[in-house]
Amino acid sequence: MNEKAILDGKAVANRIKDKLKTRVEILKESGVMPSLATILVGDDPSSETYVRMKGNACERVGIISTKIHLPEDTTTEQLVQAITDLNEDDSIHGILLQHPVPPQIDERLAFETIAIEKDVDGVTSAGYGQTALGFGTYPSCTPAAIMKIMEDYNIKAEGKHAVVIGRSPILGKPVSALLLNENATVTTCHSRTTNLASHVRQADIVVAAVGRPEFIKGEWIKEGAVVLDAGYNKGNVGDVEYEEAAEKASYITPVPGGVGPVTIAMLLNHTVDAAEKTLN
Ligand code: NAP
Repeated sequence: MNEKAILDGKAVANRIKDKLKTRVEILKESGVMPSLATILVGDDPSSETYVRMKGNACERVGIISTKIHLPEDTTTEQLVQAITDLNEDDSIHGILLQHPVPPQIDERLAFETIAIEKDVDGVTSAGYGQTALGFGTYPSCTPAAIMKIMEDYNIKAEGKHAVVIGRSPILGKPVSALLLNENATVTTCHSRTTNLASHVRQADIVVAAVGRPEFIKGEWIKEGAVVLDAGYNKGNVGDVEYEEAAEKASYITPVPGGVGPVTIAMLLNHTVDAAEKTLN
């Protein structure tokens, strides 16, 4: 596979972040300090790492990162109160509640508490609905990243058959909606789909969002298909059998260095968008 066919997420992310630095400077000159609040409940090490990475990424472009760390035994009411306080705090422009929360918490209720104008991670049902209807301000960050990578590489979805494997509220469903809005014909597969391979074999665009290492086999990929692998599994392995898929694909995202870095860049982008809206 030639170098040009690798969708370089790091490069896409760096271009986004370079532009953000200028926008953040302008905001600060206008007296607005763009700010993202992250909420972590409990001590799950992976979640701690994700929150730390997001906080560090904020700081590198000049966004203020306010970290709220609540104990493992936090109740739904306490979490809802913490989110309500952030909704009412004018110095906070975006709110990210790290998923998953401990089992005693009603996660859906907590997500729904986030004010729509601060829902930079696209987790509320209102945000999802608006995205599906085609006027969403902040789609979930991984779907937004997938669309951004396609845009940067001038890969058009229109008229193509896109097969999305996964239907989670933050990934499979919204990315299916975004591809449909771009006039792709979309098939969304999930754990009850029969004969998954036959669907993937027909795809011009494959979006892998399963959460199982190398689950999508290289031999299923149609010659010339575009492969976007959102999967991130232990050992830095994606959901697609990379080497084998790369032999067939016209474009493919590596793992790591594909969808992941752009996801974080989209979160920062949405936060700066939200801060800019307070100027109007
Ligand atoms: P999730 O909530 O666990 O959803 C997984 C989806 O895969 C579900 O819709 C499930 O179907 C489907 N699935 C499971 N087994 C299947 C099978 N045998 N055949 C077909 N479909 C199957 O996961 P997620 O949060 O969407 O994440 C998916 C992957 O993306 C993970 O590797 C995660 O680490 C990664 N991710 C990456 C980023 C990033 O920034 N790059 C961000 C978020 C997530 P059912 O609905 O029927 O159960």
